[in-house]
Amino acid sequence: MQSSRTSAKRLLALALGLGLASAALGTATPASAHTAAPDTTRAAYAPHAGTGESAAGNKAFFEAVLKSVAEKQAANPSLKSVTVYYNASQAPSFASQIASAASIWNSSVSNVKLQATSGTGDFAYYEGNDARGSYASTDGHGRGYVFLDYAQNQEYDSIRVVAHETGHVLGLPDHYEGPCSELMSGGGPGPSCTNRYPDATERAKVEQLWANGLAKALQKVDHVR
Ligand SMILES: [Zn+2]
Repeated sequence: MQSSRTSAKRLLALALGLGLASAALGTATPASAHTAAPDTTRAAYAPHAGTGESAAGNKAFFEAVLKSVAEKQAANPSLKSVTVYYNASQAPSFASQIASAASIWNSSVSNVKLQATSGTGDFAYYEGNDARGSYASTDGHGRGYVFLDYAQNQEYDSIRVVAHETGHVLGLPDHYEGPCSELMSGGGPGPSCTNRYPDATERAKVEQLWANGLAKALQKVDHVR
């Protein structure tokens, strides 16, 4: 059994071992956040032709969230459960959908929890217009964010869109070819799909990824690099 100090150091070392860019922890702004991110770090809601972007985007986003959580955990070694904090203040039009998505996930899994904060979260939601639709990405400073596109959220079920993007926060990849019963099939099944809940397989994946806390999740990310 490690001392809490050792565990904290180890967590931070694991987080830094993810090879993310500098530990600069500036707060992302909508404009710089979503124009600064190269296409290779985006994970869109709907599939695009010839994309190899999604997997890279999912991974970069999840690593950014993990790194942020790890730093908080290292600063407060007594924290036992894994809570991922989000700031939704820059996506005011989607306040209710974001709250619903968090509640959907919190009622679907138990090893990791989502909680709103008005301070610096582990990731943030933004809203605006982007022809490429909604996506999860990183801001170039190692911080993750979810961008919600107005038009796409009118065409598709908005809570499903937000719950899908939030699925990336918890480590799930896109699976556009899947059925509507999967949350991570995203826009694949088309706008008529209104399922807002992860299926049993998706829930099990998240539970497994976050089982035994943060250190385990970090190690798993390291192993798939
Ligand atoms: Zn996605």
